[in-house]
Amino acid sequence: MNSKPDTFAHTGVVYLVGAGPGDPELLTLKALRLLGEADVIVHDHLVSAEVLALARRDAERVFVGKKGGGFCCPQNEIETILVHLAFAGKKVVRLKGGDPFIFGRGGEEAEALVAAGVPFEIVPGVTSALAAAAYAGVPLTHRTHSSGVVFLTGHEDPKKADTAIQWEDYAKLGATLCIYMGMKNLETIARRLQAGGLAAETPVAVVQSATTSAHRQLLSTLGEVALVSEREGFGAPAIVVVGEVAALADKLAWFEAAKTAAR
Ligand code: SAH
Repeated sequence: MNSKPDTFAHTGVVYLVGAGPGDPELLTLKALRLLGEADVIVHDHLVSAEVLALARRDAERVFVGKKGGGFCCPQNEIETILVHLAFAGKKVVRLKGGDPFIFGRGGEEAEALVAAGVPFEIVPGVTSALAAAAYAGVPLTHRTHSSGVVFLTGHEDPKKADTAIQWEDYAKLGATLCIYMGMKNLETIARRLQAGGLAAETPVAVVQSATTSAHRQLLSTLGEVALVSEREGFGAPAIVVVGEVAALADKLAWFEAAKTAAR
């Protein structure tokens, strides 16, 4: 039985799709199928050109990217675009870097679709912390070194006054910490983690543009990582992995080794 009002009879559908970290081979089969079927692709700057190239040739592309924290398209405008496209009867893929529900604002977009009565599906993607760790040779859990993982953002919503991350508390968990959007505040984060009890010698891996041809990584320590990554010119998009497991990159960094061997 169709309980939708008549005006919605031709409503399209919105798929909130994770595009993964960049390497198109890390797309899910479902994402690939939907890219080939969608009338419109709504995407941001973290979606790689190689992934976009897999979209239907005649699909309309709408760029709603934000870069470096700057604004290109306010979130509510993106939500309005999605709702309008669906009401125009389109099959829409809202393509997001990594996974739509990990620091991707997929939750807000799904809520807006529900509020508007637009049918939707969520397609998970390989989130960049998992991809960065795998390609950098950092097992996020390890029998000997870590039995937990935490995903954190180093760059909170500036409008939120009272939800500053308690970095000192996260230092006490004994878990691997994966920090998204952490490069701008790296010095503060590293200092506060040490204030919370993590040793200055705690290994830290920084992985920039993971899985892409621009992939770079460095292995440092909590005490030095801010300085070293600045000196080496590391910047967004990057994942910072804090914990004993990061040191394993020393022997497991297979992707960088393969890139070096290919040169
Ligand atoms: N939804 C995304 C995260 C979006 S927030 C996901 O699940 O991965 C944007 C942040 O993701 C960047 O600042 C960076 O910290 C991280 N990121 C995205 N792509 C990345 C990549 N290829 N390599 C390293 N970090 C990446």
